This record gives sequence, structure tokens and C-alpha cells, in this order.
Amino acid sequence: MIPTELPRLLISWYRNARRDLPWRKTRDAYAVMVSELMLQQTRVETVIPYYRRFLAELPDVAALSRVADDALLKLWQGLGYYRRAAMLKQAAQVIMEKYDGVFPSDYESIRRLPGIGDYTAGAIASIAFGQPRAAVDGNVLRVISRVTDDDRDVFSVSSRRRIAGELESLYPENAASDFTQSLMELGATVCLPNGAPRCDVCPVKTLCLAEKNGTIALRPMKKVQKARKVEKKTLYFLTCNGRIALMRRPGQGVLANLYGFPEDAGFLTPAGIQKRHANWHVSGNALAAKHVFTHLEWHMRWFCAESDQETADFIWVTHPELEQKYPIPTAFSAYRKLADIVKKES
Ligand code: SF4
Repeated sequence: MIPTELPRLLISWYRNARRDLPWRKTRDAYAVMVSELMLQQTRVETVIPYYRRFLAELPDVAALSRVADDALLKLWQGLGYYRRAAMLKQAAQVIMEKYDGVFPSDYESIRRLPGIGDYTAGAIASIAFGQPRAAVDGNVLRVISRVTDDDRDVFSVSSRRRIAGELESLYPENAASDFTQSLMELGATVCLPNGAPRCDVCPVKTLCLAEKNGTIALRPMKKVQKARKVEKKTLYFLTCNGRIALMRRPGQGVLANLYGFPEDAGFLTPAGIQKRHANWHVSGNALAAKHVFTHLEWHMRWFCAESDQETADFIWVTHPELEQKYPIPTAFSAYRKLADIVKKES
């Protein structure tokens, strides 16, 4: 069981020790939603400039609901997990159409918005609307599994629900926002993962059973991780008359609908490329690159190539257009090195 003293100790610590983060200056549900979606899988320091720029360009639900997809992706460029941006826009459109532009305040309606899971719905309901709803993510699960010295798999759906229910029974009146954020803050700054918790400065050390039992390194219980699938690819920085070939990626699968570069499956040699693309001329050696997604790794070999003609299967863009107009996913960031090589040679 989660100790009943937990909220009081955590909240009083949080009010003194919390980091000064831009999304903590508002209770606006739209801003909370944007920050929570951005923070998924992404470090706080990375998110801060993106959050500021996003809110400056798209200050409310109405602005987000009508932004052009490319402009939206440009604001998101570099944050990764682009589906989050598309989901945010869809959520804004639902709020405009179904709720006349007013952010719904009840948990069930928030939970039904596109891209909003239990965690984000709990964060919005508690932080923006002061409701006793828990936001249980990996950080919170780690804290609770240590405080209660739980030797079960706390990451299972049933455990998450059980822990959310236990936390919600402890939510103090008039401090829901601070309790949610204090749990997040403890997990992010004190009860750190990978054997590095700062128990000496922890406000709930006196309650922590893992600290008492010497089992911190065992909590949370680790599941056996499945190995990530590896995909090998050959990528091309393909030019013609000084313009660069881009393509829209397929509507299904990884980085769906985003811009990318011409590619072939597998690792091809220059001779193999020449055979497959008769009107391309490959130059230089392959540049190796790797990008790790949650369940997948791309191992890439990039080549510079020149085409005899601007074929209709690609979008041909200038260097300035590539930098300013087209959002390119971080997975393809190696293209910058090849662009520099091509610029120097031209
Ligand atoms: S005492 Fe240590 S392990 Fe326990 S909650 Fe605090 S930081 Fe985490």
C-alpha cells in the first residue's frame, strides 16, 4: 500500500524544490496538453525551446486546429515521434468541432481526445482542472515501486491501474496539481533510474521500503527486454542541377507521411546502386549512420549521387528550401554531412 503521508511530504518538498519550467507557469489545459505530449520520450531541456516556440506560433486550440501540416511539422522538427504532432492537431480539431473550442474539463472527455492516453488525461485533469486524477508514467511507477518495495511487474496494465487507483484515493483537496507534479518531479530529479537515486536528499526517505530493505537496485522489477529489430537501408543524397531529391514517405509505418530521402532496402554497393538506378552517378564513399526508435533500429549507409534528370517520382528542392521549408525527421540528420560535401564540391 502507498503510505498515506506521501502526498503531504511530497507536496511540501515540491513547493520549495521544483524546477522553474515554462509549463509550470500556466494552468491552461491547452498548454498542459502541448507540454505533456512534447515531454513524452523527450528530455526537459530539449522540450523547453520547442514549447516556447510552439505556444508563440500556435497560442490556442483554434490556431492549432487550422495550422498547415507542413508548418506544424516544422515546429516539431527535431523532437521526433512526429505522430504526437499530428495527434495534437486532431485533438484541437475535435475540441473546436465537438466542444466549440472550449477544452473539456471532465476526465472521460479528455481521455477520448485523439492521442490522449490515461497518463496525459490524468495530467491535464489534475494540473489544469485540479481534479484527483493520477498521471502514472515510468517515473511515477519507479517511485511507487521503490516506496512500496513492490516486487511485481509494475509496468503491466493492471499494475498501472492499481497504482493509479491507490494514488487517486490519496489526492488531497485543493492540491491535485501539485501532487501530480511532485510525483513527476521526484522521479525526474531525485528517485533517478539506473542505480542513481539521490536518497540522501529524498523527502520521502523515511517512508521508502526499498531504501529500508536495501532493494533499491531491484526496483522496479525489470522485464526481459526484447531485442530491437534492425533494418538496413541505403539512403541517397541525390541531386540534379543543384536541386535535392526528397520524397513523401508512405502513409503507413515508421515516419509515415513525413519527408525523407530516396532509399533502398538493404546495404547496396556503388555497383549495385548503378545497376538499380541506371541514370544515377554515385560519388564518394558510404557514410554510415544509425537511428534508434523504441522498437526498431535503422542502420543506414548514405551515398551522394547525381541524377541525369529530375524524375517525377521525387520532389526537387533547393538547399535553402530544404533547410527552411521541409521538416526533415532527425532519423535522416546524416544528410547534413552529405549536403556539406556537395556544397564544397559545387
Ligand atoms: S529514498 Fe531513494 S529509492 Fe526511496 S523514493 Fe527516495 S530516492 Fe527513491
